[in-house]
Amino acid sequence: MGQKILVLEDLAAVQKEVRALRRAGKSIGFVPTMGYLHEGHISLIHLARRHTDHVFASIFVNPAQFNNPKDLESYPRDIPRDLAMLESANTYALFMPTPEWMYGPNFETWVNLDKLPLPHEGAHRPGHFRGVSTVVTMLFNVVQPDVAVFGEKDFQQLRIIERMVDDLKFPIQIVRGPLVRESDGLAMSSRNVRLSAEARSRALGISRGLSAALDAYKGGQRTAKELCAIVRHHLSQPGITIEYVELAEEKTLQPVERAGHEPTRMLVAAVVGGVRLIDNMALPPGLR
Ligand code: AMP
Repeated sequence: MGQKILVLEDLAAVQKEVRALRRAGKSIGFVPTMGYLHEGHISLIHLARRHTDHVFASIFVNPAQFNNPKDLESYPRDIPRDLAMLESANTYALFMPTPEWMYGPNFETWVNLDKLPLPHEGAHRPGHFRGVSTVVTMLFNVVQPDVAVFGEKDFQQLRIIERMVDDLKFPIQIVRGPLVRESDGLAMSSRNVRLSAEARSRALGISRGLSAALDAYKGGQRTAKELCAIVRHHLSQPGITIEYVELAEEKTLQPVERAGHEPTRMLVAAVVGGVRLIDNMALPPGLR
């Protein structure tokens, strides 16, 4: 167990710490989360530690990015457990703002991107990415990190943050954290705790479908139609509703008909036993 983690709840408290670290010539890493942490989140903390001297995390269940009020209400929370996990990973500080402070009564400034939020998640969760890009901007302004780490689990979100940081000239380096899976392949997610045992075993169809598509790609299959059909096949079970299965160019997130030219990703969202899950798989060019 490392040093005790600082818990900071407002701008002044964060600024005091950040200024002291900067005066001492230290660099700052940042990992924003919505809490109920798992090994996927902790891998991002370790990655941030490899790039910087001290890592700040945040926990904020951002109401503006939930298009479904029930999902917001039932989002799992366990701060004492999160604190213990962050502390064992040597996290320097945790920023935990209140929704009232983040979104004051006269709040009216939003950050919006034109194109990247439109397909995939954005098409199924209206307003979701407006909430994400806005809250990440606020968090960046408060913490002012040198490096921020985002997971590839939320690939469209990661691309949106990368674009936004480039466009708005945030002096922050964005580092990509690889997607962390359970030993049976299920992508780790705070929402997995809401899966019944039966739904959890059905949910394995998502990662199995994606690995089967990757195998087919390695075996020479290139068409989006065939690759998506492989994933859909693994998901055609009772109790699973597919929202989308798509092959997209990594850079623009636009759907492509063939893999193999530029970096592409299979992107999946499905509702399993009432829980909405997302996953993805890289199909890098030149694999054969
Ligand atoms: P969340 O708490 O779900 O908002 O996620 C906070 C950060 O952790 C985001 O950058 C996510 O992409 C990342 N993350 C969530 N799950 C995983 C995972 N299984 N592997 C890697 N990163 C993850």
